[in-house]
Amino acid sequence: MEICARILVEQPFLKEECPNGARIMISQSARSLLEENRKLLTRRGAWVKTHGHGLALGMDVDTTAVLHALSPAEIERACDAVNPIFGLAVDEVALANLAKADPMEAIDDQSAELIASENEDVLFNRWAAAREDEVQAKIVFGLSGRMIAWLRSATLADLRVVARSGHVCIRIAARPSYLWHAGKTEHLSQSQRTGLAIVNRRNTAAIHSAPAWDGSTASGLEMAEDWDSPAFVARFEMLVQYTNRPAVIRQMMMLECPDKTLRRKIRDVGERFKLNRSAAKGRRTGFSELMKTVREKYHYSIVYSIYSQSGIEASVADGNYIDHLMEIYQRYLAVTGSRLETAALDFETYAEYLAAITRGNIQVNDCSACGAQHISKLDSPSIPECPFCVAHEHRGFNISSVLAGYQSNESENRRSFRAYC
Ligand SMILES: [Zn+2]
Repeated sequence: MEICARILVEQPFLKEECPNGARIMISQSARSLLEENRKLLTRRGAWVKTHGHGLALGMDVDTTAVLHALSPAEIERACDAVNPIFGLAVDEVALANLAKADPMEAIDDQSAELIASENEDVLFNRWAAAREDEVQAKIVFGLSGRMIAWLRSATLADLRVVARSGHVCIRIAARPSYLWHAGKTEHLSQSQRTGLAIVNRRNTAAIHSAPAWDGSTASGLEMAEDWDSPAFVARFEMLVQYTNRPAVIRQMMMLECPDKTLRRKIRDVGERFKLNRSAAKGRRTGFSELMKTVREKYHYSIVYSIYSQSGIEASVADGNYIDHLMEIYQRYLAVTGSRLETAALDFETYAEYLAAITRGNIQVNDCSACGAQHISKLDSPSIPECPFCVAHEHRGFNISSVLAGYQSNESENRRSFRAYC
């Protein structure tokens, strides 16, 4: 496990024990993410219980009904995922305009107080993430390149003005089905909840518009092959830690050096970092032979969602495409508590899988029971079973019955809404 260990040491990760025995890596930013989820969602839960609705906070009726139905302990459980449950509801242009507005004199209303405080928490965390690590900010928070640029140019005073503008700048990005299952399913580990949160988010980006790295669309985007450039060599060394297969490295970095040279360079990096292996030989399993077991489908679906929500277009524009792909893989390992050598999706297959996604060779299915977006091959013969329902043993979820329960309280809700107005 030297490979991951090195990367982890560089990115000050701490290790924590998962309830199911798998190890999950938790960074400082993951810790603040857990705090954000907990602080904001428990307050929303308490708000809904007190006021009977979430209109003032811009909440839709499904989410409100679910929070209404969950107990405080269940809401607490739903917060425990290393993935943002909240997201920004407005773009960088709107934020820039709000930053120019006059701040509100004083906040005396209860809901305005909560809105300002929530805005501040979410904006400050995104601001810190954008400054700390651009690629991580795209992958974990799904921020666009333009949003990151604005956040980096903004001061804390700007953010405070935006937060106190009276506008709701954030929203619950997790789907009601995530909140329900993560709250109700007691036996899930934090790692499983994180996976479910990733595949259960609203408004995922249109994946098929994301560019492939297969050499045709990505050419010219990456740095030129220059063995004297420290940046180029650093990227090469990082990639060799994930894979020792020359064909994959050649394709990802668009290398033109002779095969012999490439193999020697791979061996050199292997020796320097004590990876105990030289360049791989022979053929490996093709994509058509993979993605057959539930475990594989589970892992591939998580990678698909990380990729499709990760602001990849921004990284292409910035020339960080390969770094971005490596970071996605690293996040996949962390989320699923997998090790590089034994992961259900190894790095080389991952590279091939991304190409299959961009060629449109997979289909995305929405599970009607748990809300997970799970993937299958385009030509799969029958309606595929949901790997999350199988692995997590979710009990069914029917939003209509939750809504019916919520609406039976409607007269009471209406009364509290009038009191609020
Ligand atoms: Zn399902």
